[in-house]
Amino acid sequence: MVGNLGKGPGGGDAGQAGAADRGGPAAERGPGDGRGDGPRSITVLGSTGSIGTNTLDLIARDPERYRVEALTANANVALLAEQARQFRARLAVVGDPARYTALKEALAGTGIEAAAGPDALKEAATRPAEWVMAAIVGAAGLEPTLEAVRRGATVALANKECLVCAGDLFMREVATHGATLLPVDSEHNAIFQVFDFGQKARVDKIILTASGGPFRTWDRAAMGGVTPEQAVAHPNWSMGAKISVDSATMMNKGLEYIEAHHIFAMPPEQIEILVHPQSVIHSMVAYVDGSVLAQLGTPDMRTPIAFTLGWPDRVPAPVARLDLGAVGTLQFETPDEARFPAVRLVREVLRSGGAAPTILNAANEVAVAAFLDRRIGFLDIAALVDRTVSRLQQRPAPTCLDDVLDIDRAARAACADLVAAAAA
Ligand code: NDP
Repeated sequence: MVGNLGKGPGGGDAGQAGAADRGGPAAERGPGDGRGDGPRSITVLGSTGSIGTNTLDLIARDPERYRVEALTANANVALLAEQARQFRARLAVVGDPARYTALKEALAGTGIEAAAGPDALKEAATRPAEWVMAAIVGAAGLEPTLEAVRRGATVALANKECLVCAGDLFMREVATHGATLLPVDSEHNAIFQVFDFGQKARVDKIILTASGGPFRTWDRAAMGGVTPEQAVAHPNWSMGAKISVDSATMMNKGLEYIEAHHIFAMPPEQIEILVHPQSVIHSMVAYVDGSVLAQLGTPDMRTPIAFTLGWPDRVPAPVARLDLGAVGTLQFETPDEARFPAVRLVREVLRSGGAAPTILNAANEVAVAAFLDRRIGFLDIAALVDRTVSRLQQRPAPTCLDDVLDIDRAARAACADLVAAAAA
């Protein structure tokens, strides 16, 4: 269920967001949920990244409320071991198997279990934490996140790529296993906060706001010379490298368009993208009576993370308070799809469906990595993703996880060939 409030796509009308659904009196809540008589048990997948460290920052400010079960990273053993010690995690997992010995040594004498490799990442997600932050970047997060979903956990979902590469499958698993899905992405978290799940048929459209990224006002010629350093320097948000580049190409808004389609079961024609450079309004929901509801705040991911961490209650977040008088002016623009072709591409991909979203996601990961490695130019990213989608999109839609992984592999190989040709 999406936040225990709805049935998810294809599930018909969403349920009521009544008081009981939002948690009920504290006396009725069980141990381990952080609101009853024990701390809430937590696992953070991707704890060393931008979302992961922000999550642990919130946990560190209220340590009595939480107990950390498992933490995971890909390569950053030093930070992972430091976090595991600080939060007295039961398990620490590093994705890269070659780093197992280093992790084991860093945790020697602590009693914290160390493990490594893709299976250990999945194992971390199966450990009995009531709340799981899914903050691994890219399709690499799909299988561990699905493990948490399949045991019916509350999953705070930052990893949008899960929904882009396997949206139907993912949402089906959420519904089948009675997992609770709480969106972390600031836009989807905003929509979640103002979406009337009890009157979904009365929603006219959802409006995803976009900062426009660092090159919002640049022309294509200037964008041709963009460096990785310029692309990761986002004007409003501090984020990991991949999502920062996605924001700069506006592919990120495209990925979020697909993410919104799955989380809120909204057809593409009822999802709008609106550029709003100040990143104060995090997104909006428009209703059939003309009302438009928005969630606002300063751009700090600790607000949406805190929303999911405390849900269904609210917990404090140490973020700068919004001062609209100081902000003064809020601007809005329609996205320029000629300068940012990724937006148009994603619209087409969602409309055509089938394997196309999985291909798009994988190709984008390869192209962004190649750009960060200075092997291709900034404008090549969207162009190579487009060409990979065109080459492979006749493949049938994935119906199971193996299909998704097959398509993902094929798309990575095809895009890698295009990168090699472009870099030659
Ligand atoms: P980061 O790059 O900062 O962190 C990624 C995390 O995933 C790190 O812990 C990293 O470990 C780990 N990781 C990377 N590759 C693998 C792999 N192959 N296997 C296992 N673990 C891996 O990313 P962000 O925190 O910025 O983003 C995480 C997710 O959240 C993304 O999907 C992003 O789109 C989404 N998101 C992020 C926002 C933000 O503000 N940052 C906002 C909204 C959504 P290591 O440190 O060892 O490399």
